[in-house]
Amino acid sequence: MESGKGRRVIVIGGGVAGSLASKLLQFDSDLTLIDPKEYFEITWASLRSMVEPSFAERSVINHKKYLQNGRVVTSPAVNITDTEVLTEDGLVFGYDYLVIASGHTDVIPKTRQEKLSQYQAEYEKIKSSESILIVGGGPSGVELAAEIAVDFPEKKVTIVHNGPRLLEFVGQKAADKAFDWMKSKKVEVILNQRVDLSSASSDDNKTYRTSGGETVHADCHFLCTGKPLSSEWLKGTVLKDNLDGKGRLMVDEYLRVNGCKNVFAIGDITDVPEMKQGYIAEKHASVATKNIKLLMSSGNEKKLSSYKPGPDIAIISLGRKESVAQFPFLTVSGCVPGLIKSKDLFVGKTRKARGLDPNLVEP
Ligand SMILES: Cc1cc2nc3c(=O)[nH]c(=O)nc-3n(C[C@H](O)[C@H](O)[C@H](O)COP(=O)(O)OP(=O)(O)OC[C@H]3O[C@@H](n4cnc5c(N)ncnc54)[C@H](O)[C@@H]3O)c2cc1C
Repeated sequence: MESGKGRRVIVIGGGVAGSLASKLLQFDSDLTLIDPKEYFEITWASLRSMVEPSFAERSVINHKKYLQNGRVVTSPAVNITDTEVLTEDGLVFGYDYLVIASGHTDVIPKTRQEKLSQYQAEYEKIKSSESILIVGGGPSGVELAAEIAVDFPEKKVTIVHNGPRLLEFVGQKAADKAFDWMKSKKVEVILNQRVDLSSASSDDNKTYRTSGGETVHADCHFLCTGKPLSSEWLKGTVLKDNLDGKGRLMVDEYLRVNGCKNVFAIGDITDVPEMKQGYIAEKHASVATKNIKLLMSSGNEKKLSSYKPGPDIAIISLGRKESVAQFPFLTVSGCVPGLIKSKDLFVGKTRKARGLDPNLVEP
């Protein structure tokens, strides 16, 4: 069997899917990971890090910690041709195989140290506020409100959400359970309204107006509105016709971008009809890397593995012990489903999948 070692593989995006794909491909190819930041962050641990900044020391991981045999380029990809990737810094890299895992965009610090300092600053902001406004009632807003309500029960927390219910990505039952939990912790939830952030722009004026004419008094606010997909940059590339109306890359059953032999897409950026979740992004990474290794070694397309969406599962943590969990035929909340996620937030498991000690804090 021919080895893929000399084959140039580029992974664009060092998030959940791209970090795992890079880790799995590093010893089988000449690997380059392109990401705007020098670290991988376990997304679902970020809200805990805001109330306990030291938590981020295990969940913000320099790419080099799990990539012993790959090149890391710290700059966003801005263009793709049939053979090359161009970065914002003006560097050009040729590829034999390409994996696009650019997920969601975010304005984030470039270095791990800056990211850790950001969590420290957010923690100080929470600690010094008596009342906190959370804008957005999706998974980030709900998990952040819960972290604050559990760790700082004396603080007044208000969520303002522009939709008809919390957690619109899961079913009504799960949303109701989250709503009831918020009520039990005295978190105020205002639905179907938007916040005018400019209405409380000065330090003396801590009163925010909502689109429904209500006012919310809060010492500070956190924006927890959804982040857009990072696919705008693809609109000027050879893959522009492979984007669907929602800006997602259309893929075949092998996770190759439609019509492409050597370009794969994985994670939230794909149009696979399923819930967009990190554990699913990791499954994509496993299937796509297996297929790339196969193509590099034997080139036998008939043996490619198919990706089949599984049942949708979502677990939203409610502080350190409880959660609301939606399984295919069951939705539950409280301490029992909390045992699955809420203590460690899958940080140990996610580190282990990348060959790292689950417990060790990064130096
Ligand atoms: C609060 C919250 C809680 C969650 N909880 C869970 C959970 O408990 N379990 C679960 O399974 N999922 C959970 N999720 C969902 C999960 O985080 C996502 O499904 C997952 O992050 C998707 O992975 P991804 O690699 O596709 O994208 P991302 O993780 O968004 O990574 C994309 C990467 O691409 C980079 N990038 C963007 N543009 C470019 C570019 N032009 N060039 C190069 N790089 C680029 C980004 O910087 C980033 O590193 C949660 C999400 C949130 C917000």
